[in-house]
Amino acid sequence: MKTPLKGVFNGAFDTVDNIKISPFSRAYTFSDSVYEVVPFFNSTAIAFDDHIKRLEFSASQLAMAVDLKEVIFEINSLITSSEFSNGYVYYQVTRGVDPLRSHIHEPNLKTETFGYAKAHLFQWKPLRVSVCDDIRWGRCDIKSTSLLGNVMNMNAAKLDNCDEVIMHKDNLLTEGGASNLFFVKNDLICTPALNGNILPGITRALLINELKNYSIEVIEDNFRLEDLSNASCAWLTSATKGLAPISEISNLESHLDLYHPLFKKSEEIFNKKFLS
Ligand code: PMP
Repeated sequence: MKTPLKGVFNGAFDTVDNIKISPFSRAYTFSDSVYEVVPFFNSTAIAFDDHIKRLEFSASQLAMAVDLKEVIFEINSLITSSEFSNGYVYYQVTRGVDPLRSHIHEPNLKTETFGYAKAHLFQWKPLRVSVCDDIRWGRCDIKSTSLLGNVMNMNAAKLDNCDEVIMHKDNLLTEGGASNLFFVKNDLICTPALNGNILPGITRALLINELKNYSIEVIEDNFRLEDLSNASCAWLTSATKGLAPISEISNLESHLDLYHPLFKKSEEIFNKKFLS
């Protein structure tokens, strides 16, 4: 029998199987929730403060109350009480339970929180991806659980045996379905600049900052599909993927080297700092 996941719901620790949620929770009716995925390695959270700051930002954009001290305590407890040392904590903050389904919520609802810890290893896994239209809303800088655009795009790509997608708006590259994009063009590492339409990935920021310490510059700018087509290598970053090189783009002509020296160097620098 599988060991049940350990979780926490509204401050009470239990196995996830025992948690009961109201169908009038606004997480259920409206995805009126924000979340974080905090990775941990050797039982230590990676960039914990950055994840908490992003959660605070996401909640503030939805004018949602969140007790960050309690969130920090619960995430730390999930990590220290788990029987594995490498994994991640999923943590969600929801507006609360409304008496009836209504777009306009009742004032002062009691915020609902939910988290669990899951074992996870950062494994080197080259990805086959496809490019697709970014059909999402205009505030993808908020880490909201409303992810239908991502879900639709990624499941359509799965039918083409892809693990991920790279999205673009009118040819302008945005990000992966659940990751940020990097690629090498003319021997320079490039990544789409942050704007309201992409998530400011924590792994993205960690990598850019760490590369700076080695005097390797990352160009943050507007890039187009042609730039990706002309790239000599490309990879995606996220809290659970780390750095995942792209082996193939199913619907775009490309020539990607999985072992490009700039990718190998980035990977080595990242792993040395965060995964050793
Ligand atoms: N963009 C999207 C849309 C994502 O879902 C994620 C993963 N949560 C990322 C980027 C990467 O962010 P992070 O490095 O903080 O995991």
